[in-house]
Amino acid sequence: MAVPAEQVAFRSALDVVAEVEPRIAEAIRAELASQRAQLKLIASENYASPAVLLAMGNWLSDKYAEGTPGRRMYAGCEHVDDVERIAAGHATALFGAEHAYVQPHSGIDANLVAFWAILARRVERPFLDAAGVGHVNDLPPAQWDDLRRRLGDQRMLGMSLDAGGHLTHGFRPNISGKMFDQSSYGVDPETGLIDYDAVAAHARRFRPLVLVGGYSAYPRNPNFRVLREVADEVGATLLVDMAHFAGLVAGRVLTGDLDPVPHAEIVTTTTHKSLRGPRGGMVLCTGDYAEYVDRGCPMVLGGPLPHVMAAKAVALAEARRPGFAGYAREIVVNARALADGLLRRGARLVTGGTDNHLVVLDVAAGFGLTGRQAEAALLEAGVVTNRNAVPADPNGAWYASGIRLGTPALTTLGCGEADMDEIADVITTALRATTPAGTSRARYTLDETVAAGCRGRCAELLAGHPLYPGVEV
Ligand code: PLP
Repeated sequence: MAVPAEQVAFRSALDVVAEVEPRIAEAIRAELASQRAQLKLIASENYASPAVLLAMGNWLSDKYAEGTPGRRMYAGCEHVDDVERIAAGHATALFGAEHAYVQPHSGIDANLVAFWAILARRVERPFLDAAGVGHVNDLPPAQWDDLRRRLGDQRMLGMSLDAGGHLTHGFRPNISGKMFDQSSYGVDPETGLIDYDAVAAHARRFRPLVLVGGYSAYPRNPNFRVLREVADEVGATLLVDMAHFAGLVAGRVLTGDLDPVPHAEIVTTTTHKSLRGPRGGMVLCTGDYAEYVDRGCPMVLGGPLPHVMAAKAVALAEARRPGFAGYAREIVVNARALADGLLRRGARLVTGGTDNHLVVLDVAAGFGLTGRQAEAALLEAGVVTNRNAVPADPNGAWYASGIRLGTPALTTLGCGEADMDEIADVITTALRATTPAGTSRARYTLDETVAAGCRGRCAELLAGHPLYPGVEV
């Protein structure tokens, strides 16, 4: 029987690594073994294809290429130029965007590029024009001081962390909460849904320069047309962070008001979640913002990662293939099946269900546990998840009261609705057999017989949907 090309590639690569540092080769093998042994329900993770993974392991990594294609600070960048142009070309075609910048190393970097592009266009540029100079270096000290103060005195309105926003949307420990005068919108306490009238009223009072849409843990689909109307009314720039749901946009599951690209001036994303690419970030924008976004380096980035841009190009090419739309649809069908399965077994879900790729299970309300206890107990039962705050969470972000579950990874493996029902049963069975240890919010006991039974069921399910079949390293 022919040996699959990826088997040869991965095994050879590990042999080469092992000659220098065998413990690293071992850790890479062990990671594959544990990814194969556990049900991955982390909403922000996926399994990239061998082509995406292999595009990263090569000499493109060695090249410095600060700047943009055709305009670099280093000689000899013509192949990196090709890579970056191909990736950006796929991104603009896939998402229907006017411009794409594929250099950000991660989602947080993409958001930083976006924030500073908005500040550069809306604060710095008019200031330089008024001062009659072309470049910040030409400002005399007093004016430079004035500009720096103005840049640091702008407002941003984003979704709060407990409502499902991300820490880069204005959480104080993150730079976004420090560089902006920041305020958050939440969700309706009864329904858990975004209340657009409340967001509009908040925006009218607060008058932000930047309105941020997008989420990490909101199980519904925001209406970006409405958010753009709010932004326009108060003179804000709408920035949508689609890190979580980029795959659903790429697969045309989210269209019209639910597609951020036609509505937001700037859209940021990660490439490694539902989009199923390499770990990285990307910024899409209108033509008006292109020159500012392209200043990501030196604004907040150093040299790009050409090998990762190559892998982004491969992943975006995959997302442009016809099969990707079916994958994206199936992610949502599976999330709904998982939510239904949990609800039928008496679980409590934030917003009562899902319309996207994720479900937030309220384990405090349903099982008397903290998110931290539930996360650890589920891991023992063979299911990898992450704890998450629920709206107005009494347990805070660390212990939390929820568990976030997502279907992009298991959908990549080919799991379907019947599998989701089985998983809902495994999860509720494990959580019912878990009890808090005294008053601790971290410790718990889980009946070992139940845990072993759950692990067996997870193993059986995974045996039917192997990860990287044919690859034995
Ligand atoms: N934005 C959102 C909405 C996210 O969910 C995340 C990651 O979880 C990020 C940004 C940050 O991405 P990264 O971890 O690649 O910096």
